[in-house]
Amino acid sequence: MQKSSISKDCVFPGVWQKYADEYADSLRMPEEYFGEIAKRALYWKRPWDKYFEYDPPLHRFFIGGLTNYSYLLDVHEKSWRKDKVALYWEDEFGNARTISYHDLFREVNGFAQVLKNLGVKKGDRVGIYMPMVPEAIVAIFAAHRIGALHVIVFSGFGAEGLASRLDDSKSKLLITADGTFRRGNFLELKKIADSALEKAVSVEKAIVLKRGNEGKADMKKGRDFWWHELMAEVPNNMHVEPEWLEANDPIYIMYTSGTAGKPKGIVDTSSKLVWLYANMLWAFDLNRENRKRETWFFTGDIGWAGGMWFTVYTTALFGLSSVFYEGAPDYPKPDKFWELVEKFKATVFYTSPTVFRLCMTYGDEWVKKHDLSSLRAIGSVGEPLNAEVWNWTFEVVGNRKVPVIDTYGQTETLLTILPPYSIDKIPLKPGSATLPVPGIEASVLDEYGQPAKTGEKGVLVYKVPFKVPSIFLTVWGGVERFGEKNWRGDNEFVNSVYYDAFKGYFNTSDAAMEDNDGYFWLLGRADDTLKIAGHRIGTAEIENAFLFHSAVGAAMVVGKPDVLRGELAVSFIVLKPGNNPSIELAEELRRTVRKALGAFVVIEKVYFVKRIPTNRSGKVVRRVGRALVRGLPLGDTSTLDDPTTIPELRNAIKDSGY
Ligand code: ATP
Ligand code: MG
Repeated sequence: MQKSSISKDCVFPGVWQKYADEYADSLRMPEEYFGEIAKRALYWKRPWDKYFEYDPPLHRFFIGGLTNYSYLLDVHEKSWRKDKVALYWEDEFGNARTISYHDLFREVNGFAQVLKNLGVKKGDRVGIYMPMVPEAIVAIFAAHRIGALHVIVFSGFGAEGLASRLDDSKSKLLITADGTFRRGNFLELKKIADSALEKAVSVEKAIVLKRGNEGKADMKKGRDFWWHELMAEVPNNMHVEPEWLEANDPIYIMYTSGTAGKPKGIVDTSSKLVWLYANMLWAFDLNRENRKRETWFFTGDIGWAGGMWFTVYTTALFGLSSVFYEGAPDYPKPDKFWELVEKFKATVFYTSPTVFRLCMTYGDEWVKKHDLSSLRAIGSVGEPLNAEVWNWTFEVVGNRKVPVIDTYGQTETLLTILPPYSIDKIPLKPGSATLPVPGIEASVLDEYGQPAKTGEKGVLVYKVPFKVPSIFLTVWGGVERFGEKNWRGDNEFVNSVYYDAFKGYFNTSDAAMEDNDGYFWLLGRADDTLKIAGHRIGTAEIENAFLFHSAVGAAMVVGKPDVLRGELAVSFIVLKPGNNPSIELAEELRRTVRKALGAFVVIEKVYFVKRIPTNRSGKVVRRVGRALVRGLPLGDTSTLDDPTTIPELRNAIKDSGY
């Protein structure tokens, strides 16, 4: 960390002494450092009395401070930003709407009154099962304005997924729409919601937005209300005083992606938004000047943490103009995202590695057709961004001029490792998310809980207590006692998942390695590590090696027990268009992997498939492949994006592969 020069494999050489100094300051005087950031991030109706309190495993920050995030809209309303575009919305057909900060302010206040009229109050949970339309953002702000917790459920979920989240959170109200357009078809969300509401009996009322042209949803009398009819009942210039919340009052329940198993209901507070502000400032250099001109484009759905943070909240925290797109990345054509970047002159394009991989598979010409010169930064989040994909993005999307910023984090902690760009233009290394941000004491431990050697793979952990508002409050639970002063959520579960494995540390359950320069390399989930003939290797590393072959579009690798070698790697491969499965190709792929990683990496099987299982936030769900090759129960499959991948994998295994 003290070095002033950095090894040769850096791109965008820069300096990092300033980062090192600031990092040291943040640990030495967290209160001064983050107190300053908190004042800039949010409006405080009442200042906090105490910065920090640790009541294991719960962390609390800005104790006694009163705030309400939705008041930022009032701040914008009173400034020059009033007429600035907040959202450039577009759908798959090219229909567009432009929403100003004033529009947002008006709609949020009106809808907050609608919610009050329906009896929603502080602490109630409100399910939001909405398409990617501006009203979804209005609903989130409005629920928050009156102190209710929002529970956003991705609109791609079926009735089971929706019902289980509404039931778990004991939501009182559901906000939904008659439907949404996906790949050109109208998907009737209200029908799905109706069947979910048969099971989620805590929900007393539903508000339905008319998104389809017909608006033909079945409305249950006394339970269901049309959005536009309720809005017509409130005065035009309605102003609803925000419910001033203590900084540690829960503000939402966000379910994790369910990559490792059953999704966890992460409960957060307003103090997390201070951390979000700091994260975005560090990663994307959202200084005062950039902020004025920024047209921000985060592509993720609002139904997962990334979409909620990086579109809904980031937009208003910094007063940005954001592109908000309802539809698939490759519909109607594979260049939909690039078309949007060009059309709205996006300055930041922020997405997941899945999107970059998908675009790589379609070929460079779809990107090169467009003028992407407005971009000043490209961001990635959600999965390891390996060097192959990093380089492609840097060359093809950024034209070698734009930094590609890999940001690592979890629903639980938000971002923790990323290039702190605004502190200084620190050097980037393709494939590394770079350095821990101020306030986060990250390290890598080996399987015995000892610090791993430089360059050695282990589990990424953070020192506890956290002295910064990165950490979530708790996991949702103990609903009967919710609202009481000593409510602690599911305390025991929190300890068992995050704190018990390594004493004194928060366990991310992700594999990582720290290099000579103190840079962190994220290597996939700790569970996804194989031990072949005594060598530990991450499935993600083997997948990357497959991608070195020009025929491979995507790869998933899982382990299978083997008496002789301990474990073997089994692979599922998606070929790029124009390539066909064959024994020869399978052999070539094995050679490519061996050449890259060493002869010990034995690929027992190559199964060629059309798609690999991903979840709704686009992450590869290896545990499904692992269960299938081992003949074990599949576990929770409700978060899979396309359940037909299961029979496809099963058939490939039955046909015995290559
Ligand atoms: P669950 O906790 O239910 O298994 P999940 O961990 O996928 O689901 P999220 O909180 O959405 O749910 O995702 C966080 C995880 O995503 C991280 O733990 C890590 O595995 C992965 N991840 C996110 N960003 C990056 C990144 N930049 N590089 C590597 N991995 C990343
Ligand atoms: Mg997780």
